[in-house]
Amino acid sequence: MTTRAADDVEELLASSVAILERLIAFPTVSADSNLPLIEFVRGYLAENGVTSELFPDAAGMKASLWATIGDASSAGIVLSGHTDVVPVAGQSWTRPPFALTDEGERLYGRGTADMKGFLACVLAMVPVLAAHRLPLPVHLAFSYDEEIGCLGVRPMLEEIAKREPKPLGVVIGEPTSGRPVTAHKGKLAMRCDVVGRACHSAHTPDGVNAVEKAARLIVAIEDLAHDFAERGPRDDRFDPPFSTAQTGVVAGGISVNVVPSRCSFSFEARSTDERELDRFLEAVSVKAARDVLPAMRAGAPEADVRFELLTRYPGLRSAEDDAVVALAIAASGESQTGVISFGSEGGLFAAAGIPAVVCGPGSMDQGHKPDEYVTREELRRCLRFLQGIATRLAEGWPAA
Ligand SMILES: [Zn+2]
Repeated sequence: MTTRAADDVEELLASSVAILERLIAFPTVSADSNLPLIEFVRGYLAENGVTSELFPDAAGMKASLWATIGDASSAGIVLSGHTDVVPVAGQSWTRPPFALTDEGERLYGRGTADMKGFLACVLAMVPVLAAHRLPLPVHLAFSYDEEIGCLGVRPMLEEIAKREPKPLGVVIGEPTSGRPVTAHKGKLAMRCDVVGRACHSAHTPDGVNAVEKAARLIVAIEDLAHDFAERGPRDDRFDPPFSTAQTGVVAGGISVNVVPSRCSFSFEARSTDERELDRFLEAVSVKAARDVLPAMRAGAPEADVRFELLTRYPGLRSAEDDAVVALAIAASGESQTGVISFGSEGGLFAAAGIPAVVCGPGSMDQGHKPDEYVTREELRRCLRFLQGIATRLAEGWPAA
């Protein structure tokens, strides 16, 4: 890549910031539609001669976008990111979350780090990539509903994985401060509905208290989390180095003088080892079936404990010598790879036979928080990284 446009990082940075301003202005909280953002991206790509394919959700409210720059008959590389952001409700922002606040080095707004900064850099590179007839294509994969369990990427991935030739690898631009990441934990999230029997609280023995039974299960989950911490397995590259579990949401009861008939709670577990997640789930189910439910049914035959899977995605464990990992190391200028504690769509790509590496601008120290920001230097670094990838694709990576 020797053209002026490709080398001029400051020009690309200006373009990235202008695009980021547009992206941040779409309040694409996971619960809401991302279609206005997707239409903006589709229009921008069309202006650059790139056609897009959309993968809408069942309700037609959201869509993932897939686009190919270059020769689709060769196997290339995917640049992937999610378009949704976490909510801002209840957070104390001192700047508007859905408008870019440019304070020089820092650029504030919901999603600047996680992960519209990466999307903006990728989009700023599109004219450069399109101008060079790359022998290997670059695909863009922009998803929805990542923040609620990597849901939106799945239908797109199912279709892409069937096509030939399959991409040689994917770069997921989650915020890693520009460092290539080859591993993260897998995650399981469940909802539990406890059904008891209501009655006046003056006659508690006549009812079955769903809140109290749910509490037994919640404490059991906490005990299992302690077991994870004490007994392992451990992988000291991660923070924390052991599997984790917790209950994040609980709701039940209508009044202090009514024995509650309903209680629901949601819990999760994260591990580097899929079998740990299976064992965890088994232990919670056994606790419910053996210790909790029989006592409930003795008082009320209609009593029940029901579990529902909210989401599950696999961990990532890419081989250090995989071609896409080597590409990310070379293009990033880093000498080694790292790991992240949060999840990504990388595990799903890898499970679909497309090796993944996570590498993007910004830090999760800022992601999901009020006054989220990314720095200009981080974006500059990401643009150099993408230029490095383009250079190697132009040279015929990975054959070169
Ligand atoms: Zn993210």
